[in-house]
Amino acid sequence: MSSAPAFAAPPASLLGQVALVTGASRGIGRAVALALAASGATVVINYSSSEAAAAELVAFIETAGGKAWAHRANVGEEAEVEAMVKAVLDREGRLDVLVNNAGITRDGLLMRMKTADWQSVIDLNLTGVFLCTRAVSRTMLKARSGRIINITSVVALMGNPGQANYSAAKAGVLGLTRSTAAEFASRGVTVNAVAPGFIATDMTRDLATETILKGIPLGRMGQPEEVAGVVRFLAADPAAAYLTGQVLQVDGGMVMR
Ligand code: NAP
Repeated sequence: MSSAPAFAAPPASLLGQVALVTGASRGIGRAVALALAASGATVVINYSSSEAAAAELVAFIETAGGKAWAHRANVGEEAEVEAMVKAVLDREGRLDVLVNNAGITRDGLLMRMKTADWQSVIDLNLTGVFLCTRAVSRTMLKARSGRIINITSVVALMGNPGQANYSAAKAGVLGLTRSTAAEFASRGVTVNAVAPGFIATDMTRDLATETILKGIPLGRMGQPEEVAGVVRFLAADPAAAYLTGQVLQVDGGMVMR
């Protein structure tokens, strides 16, 4: 009996590459940062106020043998985003992966929604993705490689009462993802979106779980690591190189199209 050929090496790692994850101090962003660091990337942990949590994550990654450092920036502010990307390029000399994850909610029924609550959600969840993408674009297009992953939400597809601001921003991210993907494709830069359903993080802590679970065929909320696995695939797997302009739902079957 002839011996079986050895399996190919596991999916190419991100060794030597640099990844910037926005809103990485907590929740999904934290899990994404860990997954990318475990794949060998030097991960830049962006946060806006949770300095201690960001420092703890850096220490955790370093103890595990990975590389990471933290940078404070409000990704809704143009100057802070430009300064953050400059800091990454000055320190690392490259930027291979951008995960636009930072996001907030300011829920309320439309009739009573304050303009400030509309605007702050649009500023961070949509304009923030534009600002970060534009800031990394020159470097990635020049390198003729790069992967951008935008975290949107299933509410971009289905709407949600009380979240007109949030679902509009997340739907905007889908349009932004597809247009950017079309613009960057000829330079080998892919742009995809991941749309989580209900994931157990601080953002969903106060929601009425019983009602939500009824609408999830898999019957449970997702874990941040389950979103991070899909992001890692899009960021690191060679098989994802032919994927661009797509949206992958990680929602336990909540929205089937
Ligand atoms: P989370 O636990 O509330 O964490 C939000 C993260 O965003 C934190 O690290 C926070 O950092 C950061 N952030 C907030 N404002 C920021 C700003 N102005 N600039 C930079 N970073 C900022 O949220 P999550 O549940 O992990 O959500 C992560 C992403 O997934 C969001 O885009 C969210 O819309 C999306 N999503 C979540 C769910 C879900 O069920 N959880 C479902 C669909 C989509 P600081 O702590 O430093 O402020």
